[in-house]
Amino acid sequence: MTPSLTTRLLSLPQGTQQSLSFNQVLHQIYYLAWLLHLGFFVVFVVLGVWTLALLNLASMAAYVFALVLNHGRHWSSALLLVYVEVLLHAILTTVLLGWMAGFPYYLFAVGPVVLLNTYWPLLFRLALAALAIVVKGLLYLFFGGMDMDFTLLAVAPGVLGLLHLGNTVAVYFTLGFIVYTYGVIAKRAEDRLMAATAEWERKAHLDMLTGIYNRRAMDELLKKEASRTGRSACCFAIAIVDIDDFKGINDTHGHDVGDRVIRHVTACIRDNIRNHDAVGRWGGEEFLVLLTEADDAVTPRILENLRKQIAASASAATDIPSYTVSIGSACFHPGDDIETILKRADDALYQGKKSGKNVRVHAIR
Ligand code: GH3
Ligand code: MG
Ligand code: MG
Repeated sequence: MTPSLTTRLLSLPQGTQQSLSFNQVLHQIYYLAWLLHLGFFVVFVVLGVWTLALLNLASMAAYVFALVLNHGRHWSSALLLVYVEVLLHAILTTVLLGWMAGFPYYLFAVGPVVLLNTYWPLLFRLALAALAIVVKGLLYLFFGGMDMDFTLLAVAPGVLGLLHLGNTVAVYFTLGFIVYTYGVIAKRAEDRLMAATAEWERKAHLDMLTGIYNRRAMDELLKKEASRTGRSACCFAIAIVDIDDFKGINDTHGHDVGDRVIRHVTACIRDNIRNHDAVGRWGGEEFLVLLTEADDAVTPRILENLRKQIAASASAATDIPSYTVSIGSACFHPGDDIETILKRADDALYQGKKSGKNVRVHAIR
């Protein structure tokens, strides 16, 4: 269903890139200008000033054409048409009604509008803005010095005053509308950018297959934990959990089943570590577990329990082949760095693999 004119006028354009566009604001300004000219048309018909009524009809046609051009995405042509309309309208009305009717104010407003259209070269925009001001100056020169009640058309001074007021308000409202709409669009763009950045940040730290941290995130976490622990006596532990003979699972059951096994281990590890511990995918079928506040006494117990839980859960599962894991672990001690603790855990894992797999080995420094 096509939204009503009022809805289209009052609501800001939706969509992703579209709503960022200055042209969408212009589109609404054209609606507004069309309505404004309709108002003037009615006023001039009531006053019986047919020349101006016709002029407003022509302007309304110009705005309809501008909207059609916009619809075809000829944004700049539409703006140029509107610019010419404003210029001609201001000149003609000033010639017919004199300076005091207030139509030259529109020349004041058209400059900032064309300056905002970044699709045009800056020099061209500046030239258009300057031309509007020069025309305004010339109009002042020729008509500004005349008597207030001078008009080519017979219009009462009181009407001139009302026109002056109406034009001032219209220009003020239009400029205010542009600034307001632009502010909303800028805020919306900023919000979207911040949300997108946060989402990318989040995705950059997650593993696609399992949804847990990836290697980069675990690396950052390890560095943070190491600097937090520093030289204090309380250490943390890391464990590398590696699925045994995983290549065989892939070869026998296919890659999809292999993926299911990887997700199964992920769930088992998550279920068996504490809230303040962390797990990430370290490599293809390798996981890195970070146990906070765990020393050489408690770490082997936690990990032995984890290894057993994984083996039991894997043999109980019906949708995947039974499998086991081997775990190599080490605790962070004063003087350690990330490389040394990772090396100790990796060596421990290697030892476990060599000794027959489905084992847990804790390296003591
Ligand atoms: P070991 O017991 O010594 O650890 O032997 P392994 O077969 O588990 O280890 P190996 O390093 O020989 O093989 C690991 C395999 O994991 C090879 C690789 O194709 C597979 N792999 C890596 N990433 C993925 C993945 O995302 N999905 C699946 N299905 N397989 C993966
Ligand atoms: Mg393996
Ligand atoms: Mg491996």
